Amino acid sequence: MSAAGPIPYDVQPGFLCIQRKGAEDHKAWPTGATVRVAYVGQVSPVVRGAMDSALAEWQRIVGTSPVPIDIKMASPDDKTADVRIAEGSGISWCVYGADALDVREQDRPTAWFGIGGWKRGVGAIWTPQEVGRVARHMCGHIYGLAHPLDDAAKWKPDAVKRYLAQDEAGQLLDQPGLSSWTAAAGSIMRFDRPAELVDAPVGGGRSMSTLSDAVDAPTVALLKSLYPTSPDVEVAICKRADMDAARWGKEHSTSMTSNILPGVCRLDLAANAQFRFNCFAQPDLVKPGKSYEFKMLAWGGPPSDLGPDSTARWLSFPPADARIQTGTKASQDIRPGSAVTGESLDQEIKFAAPFARPPKVVVSLTGFDINRDSTVRAKVYATDITPTGFKIHLETWADTSSFNIMASWLAYPADDDTFRSGSLDRPGTGLQLQHSADHTFDSPFVKRPRYLWYGLSLIDTPNTKVGVEINVPSWTRSGLTSVVSATKAENRFSRLCGVYIAIL
Ligand SMILES: [Zn+2]
Repeated sequence: MSAAGPIPYDVQPGFLCIQRKGAEDHKAWPTGATVRVAYVGQVSPVVRGAMDSALAEWQRIVGTSPVPIDIKMASPDDKTADVRIAEGSGISWCVYGADALDVREQDRPTAWFGIGGWKRGVGAIWTPQEVGRVARHMCGHIYGLAHPLDDAAKWKPDAVKRYLAQDEAGQLLDQPGLSSWTAAAGSIMRFDRPAELVDAPVGGGRSMSTLSDAVDAPTVALLKSLYPTSPDVEVAICKRADMDAARWGKEHSTSMTSNILPGVCRLDLAANAQFRFNCFAQPDLVKPGKSYEFKMLAWGGPPSDLGPDSTARWLSFPPADARIQTGTKASQDIRPGSAVTGESLDQEIKFAAPFARPPKVVVSLTGFDINRDSTVRAKVYATDITPTGFKIHLETWADTSSFNIMASWLAYPADDDTFRSGSLDRPGTGLQLQHSADHTFDSPFVKRPRYLWYGLSLIDTPNTKVGVEINVPSWTRSGLTSVVSATKAENRFSRLCGVYIAIL
């Protein structure tokens, strides 16, 4: 790190540690991540042994639940490790948790074991116990923990500058913002503050000889709080093939029986089938806190009209969750009567209870009854969203003759940071077999959201049958990739759009 080398601190080697990458606070990894750790450059067997056993110790103490990450050593030839540990002279440092992913150059370390140079000092030799403590401390950073609030405060700048090479002194003195965390006295996340380098009596001195070198329970408890347990949400998937054929349904056991939102992901209607389809949770079959019934049906023809791979994703919440409001609307509610060709219907929806601010509203297409001699074209969406309600739109166009278009909607507080939603919209550019696109969330999540729900919101298929699918094969903390496709070559579509909700 420094050409000049540190000025020897002749009582014992100081364990100083600098936070890197401007991290102000703990940085948890995305839920479910597997974090691969590797050594880069010359790392001595002593350090490797200490790090290997420290990682194993943390894994044993922390466990994998609720901390849903797996930290393990990468194979020696793995050039894509997430955390890269190097050893050398100067001050130790470490990038906190998932911030390591932002250090993209594979030859750059994300953690620095700064014990090498101290051996040049007068009488300053690290003991195995001290190396072990540094390794345990580093593991805390690798998991995402920051230094506690008081660990970078109250340095004596002149003394620090005498003690350290100039660039390192600057880094120690100018560390960016501090974690708001106040650690227990025995926390492994504390580091040395030799009495000569800090203003007494504010904080006073502290060295490894007086610091606990164990992975302490309060620090582990803090770490677990960084990785919250699963929120009370469920996304369930049900295919037509899984349902009871005669009643077009399946009872689903779950405690999440409120605000049920079906999302149609795949729809296969047989050739010459009626264009009649509906997907819904039947209110009188909901057993609060116990189960609800998936319903997906076609009617007016044989059961085989609805293909076995027809699929819906079901989002639902516990009865006590008051953040969410949901509802349904059909064109027959707005305009009862016979089929109409190409119509734009809308209606004001009033929320059962007003939101503090205009919420986010997601509307999905859950059913239609369209004249079999015309083309399946339908679109649903929301406008004019206020704290008390919104306008729902149910539309067909051109020669599409529809008796009914059905939609479900969900509203959530716009400032709830555990949700993101949006439309998986694409232009119609002639007949298509498949189209994939990337979508960025309005703002990134702190970690990869656990749940992703999606469903169709617009369908335009100029065919005598309908075979379409929307899929989200992958997502990250900042966005997702969606794919819309025809289920067979002869089912090419003009346009398919969907909506999604991502939940942390
Ligand atoms: Zn540290």
